[in-house]
Amino acid sequence: MDERQQKETMMLHDPIKTQSGFEVGGRPQVWRNWSGTVEAKVERMACCASEEQLRDAILNAPAPLRPLGSGHSFTPLVATSGTILDLSAFSGLIDYDPAQCTATIGAGTQLCNLTEMLAGLGQALPNMGDIDKQSIAGALGTATHGSGLGLGAYHTQLRSMRLVDGCGRKRELVASRDQEMIEATGVGLGIFGALTAVTLQNVPSYNLRRKRTMLPIAATLEGFESLMSAHRSTEIFVVPFAKHALIQMLDKTEEAGDYATTAEDEDGIATLKTLRNYLKWFPGLRRTLIGNAMAKLSDEEHVGEWMKIYVTDRRSKFNEIEYHLPFEEGAGALAEIIKLIETRFPQIYFPIEVRSVKKDDFWLSPFYGRDTCSIAVHHGAGEDPSAFFRAAEAVFRRRGGRPHWGKLHTMTAADIAAVYPRFHDAMEVRREMDPDNRFVSPYIEKLLGISR
Ligand SMILES: Cc1cc2nc3c(=O)[nH]c(=O)nc-3n(C[C@H](O)[C@H](O)[C@H](O)COP(=O)(O)OP(=O)(O)OC[C@H]3O[C@@H](n4cnc5c(N)ncnc54)[C@H](O)[C@@H]3O)c2cc1C
Repeated sequence: MDERQQKETMMLHDPIKTQSGFEVGGRPQVWRNWSGTVEAKVERMACCASEEQLRDAILNAPAPLRPLGSGHSFTPLVATSGTILDLSAFSGLIDYDPAQCTATIGAGTQLCNLTEMLAGLGQALPNMGDIDKQSIAGALGTATHGSGLGLGAYHTQLRSMRLVDGCGRKRELVASRDQEMIEATGVGLGIFGALTAVTLQNVPSYNLRRKRTMLPIAATLEGFESLMSAHRSTEIFVVPFAKHALIQMLDKTEEAGDYATTAEDEDGIATLKTLRNYLKWFPGLRRTLIGNAMAKLSDEEHVGEWMKIYVTDRRSKFNEIEYHLPFEEGAGALAEIIKLIETRFPQIYFPIEVRSVKKDDFWLSPFYGRDTCSIAVHHGAGEDPSAFFRAAEAVFRRRGGRPHWGKLHTMTAADIAAVYPRFHDAMEVRREMDPDNRFVSPYIEKLLGISR
């Protein structure tokens, strides 16, 4: 390819609807996130297939530049009027080391492809979140996580990173030499540069046993800390107006099994929505119907391969807010959120999702320096979530919560600096890596307090 053809490949990108959320059409192109609530008319869509093309785009394409993963963040982290950098071409296995159990992969690789690739190598991710549609760079960029007090978020697996920074410099950060820089930039929000490849520390492949049981709310709150710590991974789902919580427990097993999560949870959400629609103003009846139904559900137990047990099918569109609290605040915050929904926001039908995450040392990680209890609340897409989310956020912030970077919140720079001890250090590194603020959109400017 000559230089002209290369530029054309970069700039005249075929709009993609699926992974990156672009609409077919002429310029300016419209990009929307997964839930459809963030929309941006972008001047340029740069689909880069090599580090040279990426460098060219970073130096010459209209700013602000924002790297795109799979568009699954609810916050406008990717939105810009300038250029979206579509990095999905940086995908696939680059190298692996069976002795160290590491794999180097393109940063745009979607998690569903990554899990397949790793399975072929006999490697596995130590933990996963609810879905596998994100890109690995996007998951790292917002500190995406699963559940387990002994398990870190995805970024804690980072052993090396390749990126092109705001000056077009190619940088390679390797843990043995650059651990501090990996900790500074590993939860990157797309503000330090565009990632092209990462090396992950994986674990040997394993099977999981998933147990699900119902527990009365009072017992769930009372035994909260031991419930969360008794298993490799525990997740609590509290259905509003039910008297019970669903407790999901995952543990490693040597047993064989071929269970794969199905759409059953989706059917449950649809039923809860119907009950909400008919019984919103009859909370007593709603409580009785849901409570009785949940109490009758029998315990479940299944065994399957790691990735098939972690991943669920999330087809109902929603918006979400999730805060990461000091672990010891978890039970109190959960009790407050249940009361909030049941007394003031009867329109909520999605279960409250409660997880735990092990502390780490990454400067922009919401798990920095403290074991965490994460609480997420959801609101059907297409319905206005603002009053409920404002009230829930007040509960979380009063208890020292840090927001999930990819989920809705209203924090800006001063609030963030108050709860992230290394926030200012991270901003200093950002200034060095992107001195001309090429990656700074109006949202990033406000979020991080960057002055031009
Ligand atoms: C249905 C659903 C389920 C979810 N479940 C979970 C869950 O279980 N746990 C959890 O923690 N979160 C969860 N999330 C949130 C989601 O994991 C994060 O928002 C994640 O960042 C989305 O990844 P993405 O690839 O779509 O990234 P995007 O949303 O496209 O981007 C996220 C950030 O990464 C940056 N970025 C992307 N690619 C690059 C790159 N190559 N170089 C530099 N920066 C880059 C972007 O600029 C942006 O700042 C869920 C979201 C949805 C919609």
